[in-house]
Amino acid sequence: MDCLFCNIIKGEIPSYKVYEDEVAYAFLDINPCARGHTVVVPKTHYENFTDMPSEEAGALFATVRMLAKMVEDAVSADGLNIGLNNKPAAGQVVSHVHVHIIPRFEGDGGGSMHSIVSVNGAADDLEEMAELLVME
Ligand code: AMP
Ligand code: ZN
Repeated sequence: MDCLFCNIIKGEIPSYKVYEDEVAYAFLDINPCARGHTVVVPKTHYENFTDMPSEEAGALFATVRMLAKMVEDAVSADGLNIGLNNKPAAGQVVSHVHVHIIPRFEGDGGGSMHSIVSVNGAADDLEEMAELLVME
C-alpha cells in the first residue's frame, strides 16, 4: 500500500516535522491555510477517523491538544480551528487520518465550522434526529 502520510512518517518523503511520539507524527501542511497550519497523523495507518479504535483516537487527540497550545503560542494566534475531513464526501483527500490545526487571527477573513456546509431543512426534524442518535 502506497500511502503519502505513511511515507512521510517513515521519512521516505520529506516533511517539516514539528513533533513525534509513539502514537503520532505532526508536520507543517505543505499548502497551509494560515501560518503554522499543522497536520497531526496517527503512526498506525487508518483510512478514516471512524475506523480508529477509541483508545487510539483518544491518544491522538491528547497529542492534538498539546500541539494546539504549542502552535497557538508559536504564531501568537487569536484562535484555532481543529478538525478533520472524514471521507471524501467531507473533503478528505489523503486516505490516512489527519487532524488539521489551523491558526486563526482576528480579521483573517475566514469562517467558522458553520461555513463548511449548510443544508436547507436540516433543522426540520430535530426531534426524530435526537431519537435516532440517542444511545440507550
Ligand atoms: P485533506 O484535504 O483533509 O485530506 O488534507 C490533506 C492535507 O495534506 C492538505 O491540507 C494538503 O495540503 C496536505 N498535504 C498534502 N501533501 C502533503 C505533503 N507532502 N506534506 C505536507 N502536507 C501535505
Ligand atoms: Zn498511511
